[in-house]
Order: sequence, then structure tokens, then C-alpha cells
Amino acid sequence: MTPRVFNFSPGPAVLPLSVLEQAQRDMLGLPGIGISPLEISHRHKWFDGVLATTKSLMRELLGIPANYQIVFMQGGSNLQFSMLPMNFLRGTNLPADYVVTGTWGSKAVAEAQREGTVNVAWDGKKSNYNHLPPAAEVRLSPQAAYTHITTNETIQGVQFPANPDFGAAPLIADMSSDFLCRPLDVSKYALIYACAQKNAGIAGVTIAIIRDDLLERIPAGLPTMLDYRTFSKNDSVFNTPPVFAIYVFQLVLQWLKNDIGGLAKMQSRNVEKCQLLYEVLDGKFYEGHAATDCRSLMNVTFRLPSEELEKAFIKGAEARQLFELKGHRSVGGMRASIYNAMPLEGVRLLRDWMVEFRGQHA
Ligand code: PMP
Repeated sequence: MTPRVFNFSPGPAVLPLSVLEQAQRDMLGLPGIGISPLEISHRHKWFDGVLATTKSLMRELLGIPANYQIVFMQGGSNLQFSMLPMNFLRGTNLPADYVVTGTWGSKAVAEAQREGTVNVAWDGKKSNYNHLPPAAEVRLSPQAAYTHITTNETIQGVQFPANPDFGAAPLIADMSSDFLCRPLDVSKYALIYACAQKNAGIAGVTIAIIRDDLLERIPAGLPTMLDYRTFSKNDSVFNTPPVFAIYVFQLVLQWLKNDIGGLAKMQSRNVEKCQLLYEVLDGKFYEGHAATDCRSLMNVTFRLPSEELEKAFIKGAEARQLFELKGHRSVGGMRASIYNAMPLEGVRLLRDWMVEFRGQHA
């Protein structure tokens, strides 16, 4: 087998090795069943168990209160950008407030505008999304259907604190790229959503945690598959769900609980990892994109003095088994995505290469 390299991709992204090994053991036939998790019916009792375990591990790890539903959907976080305003803005006569701290937030705005009135309460585009809004600049509506934020902007590497304060309107958060990276007070949010292919497994499933009272506000007449109640009422098996992706998510949650020891421990590991890189950015030569007070635990974005040096940096990184470091074109430079499953060893090697490269070129 080709040896594994360190994969700094923003998503799909690195998985815990123990998760891959478990999936490999189960691949040709689940113990006592003899059917692969790729082949098994979503009506099989094995899958009832997967769903129940996945939801109870989520409740335990995140401390999800009883008045929240957990649902598993498809269509990625991009479909959530459309479903949110269809379910919670349509027919309200209220605006929806969007706080835009990066590319993904601005895509969410564009979809909401198709459905109703959007108030962009703050937009960091002028400074190429390198900081969070100072409280005084946020223009919230007196009454909004909801307020939408992106807790971690994957492209810019700008992250909100775990429990930001945005007033009285129901707070809806895209946590696609920082879900499960730290403890969270779920009760501060009305709805949390995340695609799985960063911290929660593989592409194919999108997870949402929805407060009960929100479900009651959904207007009648939505297409069945675009109505959150279809998923909450049918335990996410109204139609065929992405069985394998949910199974992998369950393995990831088991890893978080049993191998890592919960979200507080996960957070300290993540802090340790990102600090190794941010310490290097604080010196000369490299230039971090995000302001120091909102640097992401998950996506470390930085530039080098020239594009030529960036090419040489990537080449040398790959020679050291460090892959997928090129930043998004809108920010340029590098992006090291160091999700939960990125081992400390990979980050240390990247740090060492950054220090060595600087020594050669500064
Ligand atoms: N929001 C954020 C913060 C993301 O990082 C991504 C994916 N990179 C998305 C939304 C879109 O997710 P998907 O590709 O699953 O639609």
C-alpha cells in the first residue's frame, strides 16, 4: 500500500486512522451480519442502532438539550443555505439578518435573497474577510426571523468564539468547518448545521440540530424533501439516507469520546496544534490572513513574500509528505486545515518545514 501522507485538505479531509481501520474491518461484512455497511439496507435493525448511537453520542458530547432534534440530510451545507430561508423566512414579513465574515456566509446570503428580505448586518468583504465584526458595527434588525452566522470561515480562517452573542433573534450557525472542535452551549443557538466532510466524517451527510419551536414555524406547502419536519418526524429515514456516511460519523463520535476523551480535550489538542503554526506566523516572513483575535483552530491561512516562494514552499512540503496546502485563490498563499483528526505529528512537521524554509529565504 502507498504510505499515508499528511493531508491538510479543507474537506473532504483527514479522518482518524482508527476510524478508517474500523471501516476496513467492517467493509466486507459487518460482524454477525455478513453484509457490508456499503450494502446494508437503511431499514435493517443494524442501522436503527447506528442512528440511535450516533444521536446519543452527539447529545452526550455536545450536551444537546431535550428540546432539540437531530436530523441527517443530504445536499451538503449549500442546500442548507436554501432550506433555511425556505423554512424560516418564507411568509414571515420579517427580514433575516446575516453576519458575513467570509465566502461561505456570502453564499448563504445569496440564497436567502431568493426567498425574502435579507439584512446584511455586517460584511467584512472590504478587508477581504480578515476579522470579526466589532460589536458596534453590527446592524441587527429590531425584529428578525433569524440571525445567521458562519462560526468558522473555512477559506479565510476566521472563527467566532464558541458562544457569540447576537441578541434576541433565533441564532442559526453554519458550523461546517468547526463542528465538534470544542465544547459548545447548544442552547445559545436555534439551529446548528454542518456538512460532515471536515470534522464529522465523509461527504454525503449534513447534520442539523434544531430547536423544537423553530420546527413549529415552518410554513405549509414546502416540497417534502426541503422541509425540516420531514427529517425530524421520520427519524431521518423518510427516504434512503446516506447510510455509510452516517456510519462513519458514528465511528468518529466514538473516537471523540473513547480515544480523545470529549470535546474539552479535543479543544486543548486543537489549541496546541494551531499554536505551533501561529507562533511561526507571529515572527517575520510569513503573513497570517486572519487577525490574531479570531484565528481559526481549524484553518490556518497565510501568505509568503512572493508567489514564487509559495510554489517552492509547496514543493518542499510535498517532499516531506505534507499535502494539500495551497490556499483558496481568493486569499492566496497557504491554508493548512488542521481538523480534529490531523495528528500533532503532521502539524509539527509542517511547523518544522515553515521554520526551515524561512531560514533559507528570509
Ligand atoms: N459552509 C462552510 C463553512 C464550508 O466550509 C463549506 C464547505 N467547504 C460549505 C458551507 C459548503 O458545504 P458543501 O460542499 O457540503 O455544500
